[in-house]
Amino acid sequence: MKVPLTVSDFLRRGALVYPDRPALIDEPGTAGTLGTITYRSLERRARGVAIALDQLGVGHGERVAIVSPNAARFGILFYGISGYGRVLVPINYRLNADEVRYVVEHSGASVLLVDPESDEALHDVKARHRIVLDGVDDEQLFAEAPDDAEPAFWEPDEDATASINYTSGTTARPKGVQLTHRNCWLNAAVFGWQTTVTDRDVYLHTLPMFHCNGWGMPYAVTAMGVPQVVVRKIDGEELLRRIDEHGVTLMCGAPAVVAAILDAAGTRRAASQPIPGRDQVRIVVAGAPPPSKTIERVEAELGWEFIQIYGLTETAPLLTMNRRPAEWDDLPAAERARLQSRAGVPAVGVQIATDGSGEVLARSNHVFAGYWEQPEESAKVLVDGFFHTGDEGHIDPDEYLVISDRKKDVIISGGENVSSVEVEDCLYQHPAVAEAAVIGIPDPKWGETVKALVVVRPGHEVTEAELIEFCRSKLAHFKCPRSVEMRDSLARTATGKLQKFKLRATYWDGYDRRIN
Ligand code: AMP
Repeated sequence: MKVPLTVSDFLRRGALVYPDRPALIDEPGTAGTLGTITYRSLERRARGVAIALDQLGVGHGERVAIVSPNAARFGILFYGISGYGRVLVPINYRLNADEVRYVVEHSGASVLLVDPESDEALHDVKARHRIVLDGVDDEQLFAEAPDDAEPAFWEPDEDATASINYTSGTTARPKGVQLTHRNCWLNAAVFGWQTTVTDRDVYLHTLPMFHCNGWGMPYAVTAMGVPQVVVRKIDGEELLRRIDEHGVTLMCGAPAVVAAILDAAGTRRAASQPIPGRDQVRIVVAGAPPPSKTIERVEAELGWEFIQIYGLTETAPLLTMNRRPAEWDDLPAAERARLQSRAGVPAVGVQIATDGSGEVLARSNHVFAGYWEQPEESAKVLVDGFFHTGDEGHIDPDEYLVISDRKKDVIISGGENVSSVEVEDCLYQHPAVAEAAVIGIPDPKWGETVKALVVVRPGHEVTEAELIEFCRSKLAHFKCPRSVEMRDSLARTATGKLQKFKLRATYWDGYDRRIN
Protein backbone atom coordinates (compact mmCIF):
# COMPACT_ATOMS: atom_id res chain seq x y z
CA MET A 1 0.00 0.00 0.00
CA LYS A 2 1.24 3.49 -0.69
CA VAL A 3 -0.61 6.31 1.04
CA PRO A 4 0.48 9.82 0.00
CA LEU A 5 2.40 11.68 2.71
CA THR A 6 0.83 15.09 3.24
CA VAL A 7 1.22 17.63 6.02
CA SER A 8 -2.45 17.21 6.93
CA ASP A 9 -1.43 13.87 8.52
CA PHE A 10 0.23 15.79 11.38
CA LEU A 11 -2.81 17.79 12.38
CA ARG A 12 -5.19 14.88 11.81
CA ARG A 13 -3.32 12.84 14.41
CA GLY A 14 -2.83 15.70 16.87
CA ALA A 15 -6.56 16.50 16.80
CA LEU A 16 -7.66 12.86 16.91
CA VAL A 17 -5.56 11.83 19.88
CA TYR A 18 -5.31 15.08 21.89
CA PRO A 19 -8.45 17.12 21.03
CA ASP A 20 -8.71 18.91 24.39
CA ARG A 21 -5.06 19.86 24.80
CA PRO A 22 -3.83 23.39 24.21
CA ALA A 23 -2.37 23.41 20.71
CA LEU A 24 -1.39 27.05 20.24
CA ILE A 25 -0.95 29.60 23.00
CA ASP A 26 -1.04 32.89 21.11
CA GLU A 27 0.96 35.97 22.00
CA PRO A 28 -1.14 37.90 24.50
CA GLY A 29 -1.91 41.57 23.98
CA THR A 30 -1.66 41.63 20.18
CA ALA A 31 -4.43 42.69 17.81
CA GLY A 32 -6.90 39.83 17.40
CA THR A 33 -4.93 37.40 19.58
CA LEU A 34 -6.58 33.98 19.58
CA GLY A 35 -5.61 33.22 23.18
CA THR A 36 -5.24 29.49 23.79
CA ILE A 37 -6.77 27.17 21.24
CA THR A 38 -7.07 23.40 21.58
CA TYR A 39 -6.13 20.79 19.01
CA ARG A 40 -9.85 20.32 18.27
CA SER A 41 -10.16 24.03 17.59
CA LEU A 42 -6.96 24.07 15.51
CA GLU A 43 -8.37 21.35 13.26
CA ARG A 44 -11.72 23.13 12.91
CA ARG A 45 -10.04 26.44 12.12
CA ALA A 46 -7.66 24.91 9.57
CA ARG A 47 -10.65 23.32 7.85
CA GLY A 48 -12.39 26.69 8.13
CA VAL A 49 -9.51 28.37 6.28
CA ALA A 50 -9.81 25.87 3.44
CA ILE A 51 -13.58 26.39 3.20
CA ALA A 52 -13.13 30.18 3.21
CA LEU A 53 -10.56 29.90 0.40
CA ASP A 54 -13.01 27.74 -1.57
CA GLN A 55 -15.58 30.49 -1.15
CA LEU A 56 -13.11 33.14 -2.32
CA GLY A 57 -12.55 31.08 -5.46
CA VAL A 58 -8.92 30.28 -4.63
CA GLY A 59 -8.23 26.99 -6.40
CA HIS A 60 -5.96 24.11 -5.42
CA GLY A 61 -2.34 24.82 -6.36
CA GLU A 62 -2.82 28.58 -6.00
CA ARG A 63 -0.37 30.46 -3.78
CA VAL A 64 -1.32 32.14 -0.52
CA ALA A 65 1.35 34.47 0.86
CA ILE A 66 1.68 35.56 4.46
CA VAL A 67 3.75 38.35 6.01
CA SER A 68 3.68 37.94 9.76
CA PRO A 69 5.85 37.39 12.79
CA ASN A 70 5.02 34.25 14.74
CA ALA A 71 1.31 34.02 15.50
CA ALA A 72 -1.27 31.33 16.22
CA ARG A 73 -2.86 32.18 12.86
CA PHE A 74 0.40 31.28 11.13
CA GLY A 75 0.33 27.90 12.95
CA ILE A 76 -3.20 27.32 11.62
CA LEU A 77 -2.22 28.22 8.06
CA PHE A 78 0.44 25.50 7.80
CA TYR A 79 -2.56 23.15 7.63
CA GLY A 80 -5.39 25.35 6.38
CA ILE A 81 -3.42 26.25 3.26
CA SER A 82 -0.97 23.42 2.50
CA GLY A 83 -3.08 20.67 4.08
CA TYR A 84 -5.92 21.29 1.64
CA GLY A 85 -3.97 21.63 -1.57
CA ARG A 86 -2.92 25.27 -1.75
CA VAL A 87 0.66 26.50 -1.56
CA LEU A 88 1.85 28.51 1.43
CA VAL A 89 4.30 31.34 0.69
CA PRO A 90 5.74 32.58 4.01
CA ILE A 91 7.54 35.91 3.63
CA ASN A 92 10.11 37.44 5.97
CA TYR A 93 8.20 40.21 7.75
CA ARG A 94 11.37 42.34 7.95
CA LEU A 95 11.43 42.87 4.17
CA ASN A 96 10.40 46.26 2.81
CA ALA A 97 7.44 46.85 0.50
CA ASP A 98 9.42 46.45 -2.76
CA GLU A 99 10.96 43.20 -1.57
CA VAL A 100 7.61 41.79 -0.45
CA ARG A 101 6.00 42.90 -3.73
CA TYR A 102 8.65 41.01 -5.65
CA VAL A 103 7.88 37.77 -3.80
CA VAL A 104 4.11 38.21 -4.09
CA GLU A 105 4.39 38.87 -7.83
CA HIS A 106 7.03 36.23 -8.54
CA SER A 107 5.08 33.53 -6.72
CA GLY A 108 1.86 34.73 -8.39
CA ALA A 109 0.10 34.70 -5.03
CA SER A 110 -3.64 35.24 -5.33
CA VAL A 111 -4.05 35.92 -1.62
CA LEU A 112 -1.86 38.11 0.59
CA LEU A 113 -2.28 37.87 4.37
CA VAL A 114 -0.71 40.72 6.31
CA ASP A 115 0.00 41.17 10.01
CA PRO A 116 -1.57 44.42 11.30
CA GLU A 117 1.87 45.82 12.16
CA SER A 118 2.98 45.53 8.53
CA ASP A 119 -0.30 46.72 7.03
CA GLU A 120 0.62 50.37 6.62
CA ALA A 121 4.12 49.77 5.26
CA LEU A 122 2.74 47.24 2.77
CA HIS A 123 -0.25 49.34 1.82
CA ASP A 124 0.62 49.32 -1.87
CA VAL A 125 1.42 45.63 -2.11
CA LYS A 126 -1.64 44.08 -3.68
CA ALA A 127 -2.95 40.66 -4.60
CA ARG A 128 -6.37 39.47 -5.81
CA HIS A 129 -7.36 39.15 -2.16
CA ARG A 130 -5.58 41.08 0.57
CA ILE A 131 -6.59 40.30 4.13
CA VAL A 132 -5.25 41.87 7.35
CA LEU A 133 -4.77 39.42 10.21
CA ASP A 134 -6.36 41.65 12.85
CA GLY A 135 -9.25 39.52 14.05
CA VAL A 136 -11.77 41.65 12.10
CA ASP A 137 -10.78 41.56 8.43
CA ASP A 138 -9.91 37.88 8.79
CA GLU A 139 -12.78 36.83 11.05
CA GLN A 140 -14.35 34.70 8.34
CA LEU A 141 -11.04 33.08 7.41
CA PHE A 142 -10.28 31.77 10.89
CA ALA A 143 -13.77 30.82 12.03
CA GLU A 144 -14.14 27.25 13.32
CA ALA A 145 -15.82 25.05 10.70
CA PRO A 146 -18.71 22.89 11.91
CA ASP A 147 -17.83 19.18 12.18
CA ASP A 148 -19.81 18.22 9.08
CA ALA A 149 -18.47 20.98 6.81
CA GLU A 150 -15.94 19.73 4.28
CA PRO A 151 -13.78 21.80 1.95
CA ALA A 152 -13.65 21.00 -1.77
CA PHE A 153 -12.01 17.61 -2.27
CA TRP A 154 -8.26 17.69 -2.93
CA GLU A 155 -6.64 14.48 -4.12
CA PRO A 156 -3.72 14.06 -1.69
CA ASP A 157 -0.44 14.23 -3.59
CA GLU A 158 2.87 13.91 -1.78
CA ASP A 159 4.73 15.41 -4.72
CA ALA A 160 2.62 18.56 -4.73
CA THR A 161 4.29 21.73 -3.49
CA ALA A 162 3.32 22.46 0.12
CA SER A 163 5.19 25.74 0.40
CA ILE A 164 7.44 28.10 -1.51
CA ASN A 165 9.97 29.64 0.86
CA TYR A 166 11.88 32.58 -0.59
CA THR A 167 15.50 32.62 0.45
CA SER A 168 18.32 35.03 -0.30
CA GLY A 169 21.18 33.36 -2.05
CA THR A 170 23.63 33.98 -4.81
CA THR A 171 21.30 36.04 -6.98
CA ALA A 172 20.24 39.62 -6.33
CA ARG A 173 16.61 38.57 -5.88
CA PRO A 174 15.56 35.78 -3.52
CA LYS A 175 14.64 32.43 -5.05
CA GLY A 176 11.49 30.45 -4.26
CA VAL A 177 12.33 27.07 -2.73
CA GLN A 178 9.56 24.60 -3.54
CA LEU A 179 9.14 22.14 -0.70
CA THR A 180 6.85 19.22 -1.47
CA HIS A 181 4.58 17.50 1.03
CA ARG A 182 6.96 14.57 0.91
CA ASN A 183 9.96 16.82 1.73
CA CYS A 184 8.13 18.39 4.66
CA TRP A 185 6.75 15.08 5.94
CA LEU A 186 10.02 13.19 5.98
CA ASN A 187 12.00 16.15 7.34
CA ALA A 188 9.48 16.54 10.20
CA ALA A 189 9.41 12.82 10.96
CA VAL A 190 13.19 12.49 11.09
CA PHE A 191 13.67 15.80 12.91
CA GLY A 192 11.03 14.92 15.50
CA TRP A 193 12.42 11.43 15.91
CA GLN A 194 16.04 12.45 16.34
CA THR A 195 15.18 15.23 18.79
CA THR A 196 12.85 12.74 20.56
CA VAL A 197 9.71 14.84 20.44
CA THR A 198 7.02 13.23 22.59
CA ASP A 199 3.55 14.22 23.78
CA ARG A 200 5.16 15.37 27.04
CA ASP A 201 7.02 18.20 25.34
CA VAL A 202 6.06 21.87 25.42
CA TYR A 203 7.37 23.80 22.42
CA LEU A 204 8.38 27.47 22.34
CA HIS A 205 8.21 29.11 18.89
CA THR A 206 11.44 31.12 19.11
CA LEU A 207 12.29 30.35 15.49
CA PRO A 208 10.47 32.48 12.91
CA MET A 209 7.67 30.40 11.37
CA PHE A 210 8.42 31.95 7.97
CA HIS A 211 11.97 30.58 8.05
CA CYS A 212 11.72 27.23 6.26
CA ASN A 213 8.33 26.64 7.95
CA GLY A 214 10.01 26.88 11.34
CA TRP A 215 12.43 24.14 10.15
CA GLY A 216 9.43 21.80 10.01
CA MET A 217 9.30 21.52 13.78
CA PRO A 218 5.71 22.88 13.88
CA TYR A 219 4.66 19.78 11.90
CA ALA A 220 6.58 17.38 14.14
CA VAL A 221 5.20 18.76 17.41
CA THR A 222 1.62 19.01 16.10
CA ALA A 223 1.57 15.29 15.32
CA MET A 224 2.43 14.58 18.96
CA GLY A 225 -0.14 16.97 20.41
CA VAL A 226 2.54 19.22 21.89
CA PRO A 227 1.35 22.55 23.34
CA GLN A 228 3.02 25.34 21.34
CA VAL A 229 3.78 28.70 22.90
CA VAL A 230 3.97 31.54 20.37
CA VAL A 231 6.45 34.43 20.78
CA ARG A 232 6.59 37.32 18.34
CA LYS A 233 9.85 38.92 19.42
CA ILE A 234 13.15 37.67 20.80
CA ASP A 235 13.87 39.09 24.23
CA GLY A 236 16.06 36.90 26.44
CA GLU A 237 14.34 37.66 29.75
CA GLU A 238 10.87 37.27 28.23
CA LEU A 239 11.87 33.88 26.84
CA LEU A 240 13.03 32.76 30.29
CA ARG A 241 9.74 33.95 31.75
CA ARG A 242 7.69 31.97 29.21
CA ILE A 243 9.84 28.88 29.69
CA ASP A 244 9.06 29.06 33.38
CA GLU A 245 5.37 29.89 32.96
CA HIS A 246 4.59 27.14 30.45
CA GLY A 247 7.13 24.46 31.42
CA VAL A 248 8.79 24.64 28.00
CA THR A 249 11.01 21.68 27.06
CA LEU A 250 11.98 22.35 23.45
CA MET A 251 12.89 25.28 21.20
CA CYS A 252 14.91 26.07 18.08
CA GLY A 253 16.93 29.13 17.11
CA ALA A 254 20.02 30.74 15.64
CA PRO A 255 23.10 31.26 17.83
CA ALA A 256 21.96 34.88 18.39
CA VAL A 257 18.91 33.56 20.29
CA VAL A 258 21.17 31.47 22.49
CA ALA A 259 23.32 34.53 23.16
CA ALA A 260 20.25 36.58 24.18
CA ILE A 261 19.16 33.83 26.59
CA LEU A 262 22.64 33.51 28.11
CA ASP A 263 22.77 37.28 28.68
CA ALA A 264 19.37 37.29 30.37
CA ALA A 265 20.34 34.30 32.50
CA GLY A 266 23.51 36.15 33.55
CA THR A 267 21.40 39.09 34.73
CA ARG A 268 19.12 36.73 36.65
CA ARG A 269 22.07 35.00 38.27
CA ALA A 270 23.54 38.33 39.37
CA ALA A 271 20.21 39.13 41.03
CA SER A 272 20.09 35.61 42.62
CA GLN A 273 16.98 34.76 40.60
CA PRO A 274 16.31 31.19 39.41
CA ILE A 275 16.93 30.15 35.81
CA PRO A 276 14.20 27.87 34.48
CA GLY A 277 14.51 24.65 32.49
CA ARG A 278 17.48 22.90 34.11
CA ASP A 279 17.60 19.24 32.96
CA GLN A 280 14.35 19.86 31.10
CA VAL A 281 14.99 22.06 28.04
CA ARG A 282 16.53 21.01 24.71
CA ILE A 283 17.60 23.83 22.44
CA VAL A 284 18.22 23.10 18.74
CA VAL A 285 20.62 25.53 17.09
CA ALA A 286 21.55 26.17 13.45
CA GLY A 287 22.14 28.94 10.95
CA ALA A 288 25.79 29.38 11.83
CA PRO A 289 28.36 27.35 13.72
CA PRO A 290 27.95 28.12 17.41
CA PRO A 291 31.21 28.84 19.27
CA SER A 292 32.17 25.92 21.53
CA LYS A 293 32.23 28.33 24.49
CA THR A 294 28.53 29.02 23.90
CA ILE A 295 27.77 25.30 23.91
CA GLU A 296 29.69 24.87 27.14
CA ARG A 297 27.84 27.77 28.76
CA VAL A 298 24.41 26.44 27.72
CA GLU A 299 25.17 23.22 29.54
CA ALA A 300 26.94 24.74 32.58
CA GLU A 301 24.96 27.95 33.15
CA LEU A 302 21.49 26.86 32.02
CA GLY A 303 21.66 23.08 32.45
CA TRP A 304 19.93 22.65 29.06
CA GLU A 305 20.74 20.13 26.36
CA PHE A 306 22.38 21.67 23.28
CA ILE A 307 21.63 20.11 19.89
CA GLN A 308 23.18 21.46 16.69
CA ILE A 309 21.72 20.86 13.26
CA TYR A 310 22.88 21.91 9.83
CA GLY A 311 20.77 22.39 6.75
CA LEU A 312 19.27 24.87 4.31
CA THR A 313 15.84 26.01 3.28
CA GLU A 314 16.46 23.94 0.13
CA THR A 315 16.78 20.82 2.31
CA ALA A 316 13.63 21.38 4.40
CA PRO A 317 16.16 21.85 6.31
CA LEU A 318 17.57 18.86 8.22
CA LEU A 319 20.81 17.40 6.85
CA THR A 320 23.04 16.71 9.86
CA MET A 321 22.56 16.67 13.60
CA ASN A 322 25.03 16.81 16.45
CA ARG A 323 23.35 15.50 19.57
CA ARG A 324 25.65 14.23 22.27
CA PRO A 325 26.04 10.45 22.11
CA ALA A 326 26.41 8.49 25.36
CA GLU A 327 30.08 7.91 24.51
CA TRP A 328 30.87 11.58 25.19
CA ASP A 329 29.14 11.75 28.60
CA ASP A 330 32.28 11.36 30.65
CA LEU A 331 34.50 13.69 28.61
CA PRO A 332 35.57 17.02 30.12
CA ALA A 333 32.97 19.72 29.39
CA ALA A 334 35.26 21.76 27.12
CA GLU A 335 36.12 18.72 24.99
CA ARG A 336 32.46 17.75 24.71
CA ALA A 337 31.63 21.28 23.59
CA ARG A 338 34.41 21.21 21.01
CA LEU A 339 33.05 17.97 19.55
CA GLN A 340 29.55 19.44 19.53
CA SER A 341 30.60 22.59 17.73
CA ARG A 342 30.75 20.54 14.52
CA ALA A 343 27.66 20.43 12.30
CA GLY A 344 27.02 16.75 13.01
CA VAL A 345 26.44 13.41 11.37
CA PRO A 346 23.92 12.77 8.59
CA ALA A 347 20.31 12.48 9.75
CA VAL A 348 18.46 9.27 8.90
CA GLY A 349 18.05 9.04 5.13
CA VAL A 350 20.66 11.72 4.34
CA GLN A 351 23.93 11.16 2.50
CA ILE A 352 26.64 13.80 2.84
CA ALA A 353 29.76 14.10 0.69
CA THR A 354 32.27 16.75 -0.22
CA ASP A 355 33.58 17.32 -3.72
CA GLY A 356 37.14 18.06 -4.84
CA SER A 357 36.73 21.77 -4.05
CA GLY A 358 35.46 21.09 -0.52
CA GLU A 359 31.83 21.93 -1.31
CA VAL A 360 29.32 20.04 0.81
CA LEU A 361 26.91 17.89 -1.22
CA ALA A 362 23.75 16.25 0.05
CA ARG A 363 21.31 13.60 -1.15
CA SER A 364 18.06 13.07 0.71
CA ASN A 365 14.28 12.99 0.54
CA HIS A 366 14.40 16.34 2.29
CA VAL A 367 15.99 18.04 -0.75
CA PHE A 368 13.60 20.42 -2.51
CA ALA A 369 11.91 20.01 -5.88
CA GLY A 370 13.53 23.07 -7.47
CA TYR A 371 13.28 26.86 -7.46
CA TRP A 372 9.88 28.21 -8.46
CA GLU A 373 9.97 29.10 -12.14
CA GLN A 374 13.78 29.19 -12.26
CA PRO A 375 14.76 25.87 -13.84
CA GLU A 376 18.23 27.14 -14.79
CA GLU A 377 18.97 28.06 -11.14
CA SER A 378 17.68 24.64 -10.02
CA ALA A 379 19.92 22.90 -12.54
CA LYS A 380 22.97 24.68 -11.10
CA VAL A 381 22.47 23.16 -7.65
CA LEU A 382 20.82 19.80 -8.41
CA VAL A 383 23.52 17.89 -10.25
CA ASP A 384 23.78 14.11 -10.73
CA GLY A 385 21.51 13.28 -7.82
CA PHE A 386 23.26 15.55 -5.34
CA PHE A 387 22.33 18.98 -4.03
CA HIS A 388 25.18 21.49 -3.99
CA THR A 389 24.92 23.41 -0.73
CA GLY A 390 27.37 26.23 -1.51
CA ASP A 391 28.94 25.57 1.91
CA GLU A 392 32.49 24.47 2.32
CA GLY A 393 33.64 21.88 4.82
CA HIS A 394 35.18 18.52 5.51
CA ILE A 395 34.20 15.25 7.10
CA ASP A 396 36.19 14.23 10.18
CA PRO A 397 37.38 10.61 10.56
CA ASP A 398 34.43 9.92 12.92
CA GLU A 399 32.04 11.03 10.09
CA TYR A 400 31.16 14.39 11.67
CA LEU A 401 30.72 17.19 9.16
CA VAL A 402 32.53 20.47 9.86
CA ILE A 403 31.35 23.58 8.00
CA SER A 404 34.30 25.94 7.62
CA ASP A 405 33.39 28.49 4.96
CA ARG A 406 30.83 29.46 2.35
CA LYS A 407 31.51 29.26 -1.36
CA LYS A 408 28.32 31.18 -2.05
CA ASP A 409 28.25 34.89 -1.64
CA VAL A 410 25.88 34.88 1.30
CA ILE A 411 26.23 36.57 4.67
CA ILE A 412 24.29 35.13 7.61
CA SER A 413 23.49 37.72 10.23
CA GLY A 414 21.39 36.72 13.22
CA GLY A 415 20.27 33.60 11.37
CA GLU A 416 18.93 35.39 8.27
CA ASN A 417 20.59 35.26 4.87
CA VAL A 418 21.77 38.39 3.12
CA SER A 419 22.82 38.21 -0.52
CA SER A 420 26.05 40.19 -1.02
CA VAL A 421 25.08 40.70 -4.67
CA GLU A 422 21.82 42.35 -3.69
CA VAL A 423 23.57 44.83 -1.37
CA GLU A 424 26.26 45.53 -3.99
CA ASP A 425 23.52 46.16 -6.59
CA CYS A 426 22.00 48.68 -4.23
CA LEU A 427 25.31 50.47 -3.58
CA TYR A 428 25.98 50.73 -7.32
CA GLN A 429 22.79 52.79 -7.64
CA HIS A 430 24.50 55.55 -5.64
CA PRO A 431 26.14 58.08 -8.00
CA ALA A 432 29.35 58.27 -5.92
CA VAL A 433 30.03 54.52 -5.96
CA ALA A 434 32.48 53.32 -8.59
CA GLU A 435 33.09 49.86 -7.13
CA ALA A 436 31.59 47.96 -4.25
CA ALA A 437 32.25 44.66 -2.50
CA VAL A 438 30.04 43.43 0.30
CA ILE A 439 31.39 40.92 2.78
CA GLY A 440 30.46 39.39 6.11
CA ILE A 441 32.70 40.11 9.09
CA PRO A 442 32.57 38.41 12.50
CA ASP A 443 30.42 39.99 15.16
CA PRO A 444 29.94 38.81 18.74
CA LYS A 445 26.19 39.44 18.80
CA TRP A 446 24.94 38.70 15.28
CA GLY A 447 27.54 36.11 14.25
CA GLU A 448 28.30 38.11 11.12
CA THR A 449 27.49 41.65 10.09
CA VAL A 450 27.42 43.22 6.65
CA LYS A 451 30.39 45.35 5.66
CA ALA A 452 30.82 47.28 2.41
CA LEU A 453 34.14 48.14 0.81
CA VAL A 454 33.69 50.99 -1.64
CA VAL A 455 35.80 52.78 -4.22
CA VAL A 456 34.47 56.32 -4.66
CA ARG A 457 34.06 57.70 -8.17
CA PRO A 458 36.64 60.41 -8.96
CA GLY A 459 35.26 63.89 -8.33
CA HIS A 460 32.57 62.58 -5.94
CA GLU A 461 32.41 62.63 -2.18
CA VAL A 462 30.32 60.47 0.08
CA THR A 463 30.41 59.50 3.75
CA GLU A 464 29.95 56.14 5.42
CA ALA A 465 26.74 57.36 7.09
CA GLU A 466 25.31 58.54 3.74
CA LEU A 467 25.90 55.19 2.09
CA ILE A 468 24.36 53.29 5.01
CA GLU A 469 21.33 55.58 4.95
CA PHE A 470 21.03 55.14 1.17
CA CYS A 471 20.89 51.34 1.59
CA ARG A 472 18.38 51.64 4.43
CA SER A 473 16.07 53.60 2.15
CA LYS A 474 16.07 50.75 -0.38
CA LEU A 475 16.64 47.46 1.46
CA ALA A 476 15.29 45.70 4.54
CA HIS A 477 17.37 47.04 7.41
CA PHE A 478 18.91 43.71 8.41
CA LYS A 479 20.57 43.57 4.96
CA CYS A 480 22.23 46.99 5.18
CA PRO A 481 25.93 47.50 5.85
CA ARG A 482 26.78 48.25 9.46
CA SER A 483 30.05 49.74 8.32
CA VAL A 484 31.53 51.06 5.08
CA GLU A 485 35.22 51.43 4.32
CA MET A 486 36.50 53.52 1.43
CA ARG A 487 39.29 51.92 -0.58
CA ASP A 488 41.49 53.09 -3.45
CA SER A 489 40.92 49.80 -5.25
CA LEU A 490 39.54 46.31 -4.62
CA ALA A 491 41.48 43.05 -5.08
CA ARG A 492 40.49 41.42 -8.37
CA THR A 493 41.60 38.45 -10.43
CA ALA A 494 43.25 38.85 -13.85
CA THR A 495 39.78 38.50 -15.39
CA GLY A 496 38.43 41.27 -13.21
CA LYS A 497 36.49 39.13 -10.72
CA LEU A 498 36.41 40.39 -7.14
CA GLN A 499 38.65 38.33 -4.86
CA LYS A 500 36.30 38.21 -1.91
CA PHE A 501 38.43 35.74 0.04
CA LYS A 502 41.29 38.27 -0.02
CA LEU A 503 39.03 41.14 0.92
CA ARG A 504 37.63 39.15 3.84
CA ALA A 505 40.93 37.74 5.08
CA THR A 506 42.05 40.56 7.37
CA TYR A 507 38.75 40.65 9.23
CA TRP A 508 38.86 36.91 9.93
CA ASP A 509 42.41 36.79 11.24
CA GLY A 510 42.59 34.54 14.30
CA TYR A 511 39.36 32.64 13.50
CA ASP A 512 39.67 28.96 12.65
CA ARG A 513 36.59 29.12 10.40
CA ARG A 514 35.56 31.75 7.88
CA ILE A 515 31.95 31.82 9.05
CA ASN A 516 30.55 32.77 12.42
P1 AMP B 1 18.88 29.12 5.21
O1 AMP B 1 18.54 28.51 3.91
O2 AMP B 1 18.46 30.55 5.32
O3 AMP B 1 18.33 28.32 6.37
O4 AMP B 1 20.46 29.17 5.36
C1 AMP B 1 21.23 28.00 5.19
C2 AMP B 1 22.67 28.28 5.41
O5 AMP B 1 22.92 28.53 6.79
C3 AMP B 1 23.58 27.11 5.09
O6 AMP B 1 23.87 27.01 3.71
C4 AMP B 1 24.81 27.43 5.91
O7 AMP B 1 25.65 28.36 5.25
C5 AMP B 1 24.22 28.08 7.14
N1 AMP B 1 24.10 27.11 8.24
C6 AMP B 1 22.99 26.49 8.68
N2 AMP B 1 23.26 25.69 9.73
C7 AMP B 1 24.57 25.79 9.99
C8 AMP B 1 25.47 25.19 10.92
N3 AMP B 1 25.05 24.34 11.86
N4 AMP B 1 26.79 25.52 10.84
C9 AMP B 1 27.23 26.37 9.89
N5 AMP B 1 26.44 26.99 8.99
C10 AMP B 1 25.13 26.70 9.02
